[in-house]
Amino acid sequence: MKTVSIAIDGPSGAGKSSLAKALARELGFIYVDTGALYRSVGYQVLKRGGDQSDSAFVKKLLPNLKVELKYIDGNQRVFVNNQDVSDMIRTPEVSMAASAVSAIPAVREFLFDLQRETAKKNNVVMDGRDIGTVVLPDADIKIFLTASPEERARRRFRELKEKGIEASFEDVLTDMIKRDYDDANRQTAPLRKAEDAITVDTTGNTFEQSLEIIKQIVQERLNERSGS
Ligand code: C5P
Repeated sequence: MKTVSIAIDGPSGAGKSSLAKALARELGFIYVDTGALYRSVGYQVLKRGGDQSDSAFVKKLLPNLKVELKYIDGNQRVFVNNQDVSDMIRTPEVSMAASAVSAIPAVREFLFDLQRETAKKNNVVMDGRDIGTVVLPDADIKIFLTASPEERARRRFRELKEKGIEASFEDVLTDMIKRDYDDANRQTAPLRKAEDAITVDTTGNTFEQSLEIIKQIVQERLNERSGS
């Protein structure tokens, strides 16, 4: 049976993960957070005391990593070598490490099959930076989510606070601007909107307003698809 894929890309803090998660729940699809995969690799590099930009070190590490996605009570958990790392990969330090390792082509190749296979076997809402352009270029629906940097930093700051992770707003904004720049300017699979993606700017919207807009886009596309 052909599965349905919805790709949601965009810069950090645009609301991708919370909106994708809510959309997946409504549709009964699984939510695949691909950023967590890059985070899990970044986390391993930090844990082993390596330099996240040292591609030789990172490449050597990859064959020793078994990265798996599991769904427990409908929630995605990331396992590395049988250890659930999902809760340890949310710190600002791991965010920067994830961005650094994600620029290494071998890391992207390493994580590619897992993402592709997951979408082949399940109906998915998958979020990331290159889902509509590289991982699932034939996705049924592609959405590019964005918002102003200040708004995105405010949301990320609030999220970190809720999780009890210490950070100043200025540091969150500075890190976010650097990460956006690096993600959009790397050689391999840079962050960019797929030509056939629909842009949704969430600046000034409540979560419910953005979810409503996305649900409408998805519903229209799915109707067109079943009618054609
Ligand atoms: O989405 P999240 O903030 O968790 O992603 C962490 C980092 O992983 C991003 O800054 C980006 O560098 C990288 N990433 C990527 N491609 C994806 C998902 C995330 O390069 N599909």
